[in-house]
Amino acid sequence: MEAWFAVSGRDLPWRRTGDPYKIWVSEIMLQQTQVETVIPYYERFIRALPDVSALAEAEDDGLFKLWQGLGYYRRAAHLKEAAVTVMKDFGGHMPASYETLLQLKGIGPYSAAAIASIAYGQPKGVVDGNTLRIIARLFNLEDNIALDKTKKAFGQLMDALIGAAKSPSAFNQAMMDLGAMICTPRKPDCPACPLKDICRGRRADTILLLPVNIKKVKRETEEMVTAVIRAEDRLMLVRNREGLLKDLYGFVQTPCSSPSAFEAWFLEKYKVPIRLQSYIGDVKHVFTHRTWLMHVYAGYLLSDRDQVRDLLYTDRELEALPVSTAHMKVLKAWQKAEKDPS
Ligand code: SF4
Repeated sequence: MEAWFAVSGRDLPWRRTGDPYKIWVSEIMLQQTQVETVIPYYERFIRALPDVSALAEAEDDGLFKLWQGLGYYRRAAHLKEAAVTVMKDFGGHMPASYETLLQLKGIGPYSAAAIASIAYGQPKGVVDGNTLRIIARLFNLEDNIALDKTKKAFGQLMDALIGAAKSPSAFNQAMMDLGAMICTPRKPDCPACPLKDICRGRRADTILLLPVNIKKVKRETEEMVTAVIRAEDRLMLVRNREGLLKDLYGFVQTPCSSPSAFEAWFLEKYKVPIRLQSYIGDVKHVFTHRTWLMHVYAGYLLSDRDQVRDLLYTDRELEALPVSTAHMKVLKAWQKAEKDPS
């Protein structure tokens, strides 16, 4: 990674300095703003306010003029407020530790990790949409990155990786550039990627399915994993004993958002291990009072099918069953994927 960064990393003005003040200013400007937009603002700002004491003493009008057009003006006000704190409480020196940086106004976890690693070589990984995507693909993880617990777990993975890196600064910046230029959401350029030989998502051909990013659904929406489980020429269906679709048949499903959680739930309920090997797509079905958001996967039984023998149906038997409309949609989506796996 670091070797790749040395050769292929972007040459940006704030990368030509080790000055924590300048790195801090650039990181704040880069929040919600494109790199190309930031460059001229950064250069003008540093010319006008070259160090933390100049910023702490800046007049508000002049400060906001420097920021004019960059948007999110609170960032400028917070920068100045933090500069005053640095002068007052830290003798004019930017603190080096991630935790202390976090206490300064306007510095969140991403900026604190960036400043601590780039300016001071601290092994703290940056976590944002780019690095979450890379981690999900690199380790082939289907956890929903919209959830805080996933962000936390992926952040720990980032910290483990950066802890093993020779240069935390180069590592974090390489991850930033990789996310911006190579491991992009829709068209990752894997052949050019320094991680291609160890990327599990690439090996499993799941790159374009990752990361899983399901934003919090409305309360009336029930999110679940629905599995079309095959055993030779039979499919597994269950009869609803109660609820909305009582007496109708459908594929096995349970409220959860990840296939691994489903596999664990299935094993506990049916005492047979399964593997969900491919994601078919999402199927939505709207009832009067609620919506089902079904994440549909195709899978197979991993061992003897005795325990679920009575739940397996041939195509012909299935045609005779009263299957709910929601699950007919699932069946159609699965049949389409079977016909055209691309
Ligand atoms: S090999 Fe492809 S998917 Fe894997 S990290 Fe690199 S660009 Fe991303």
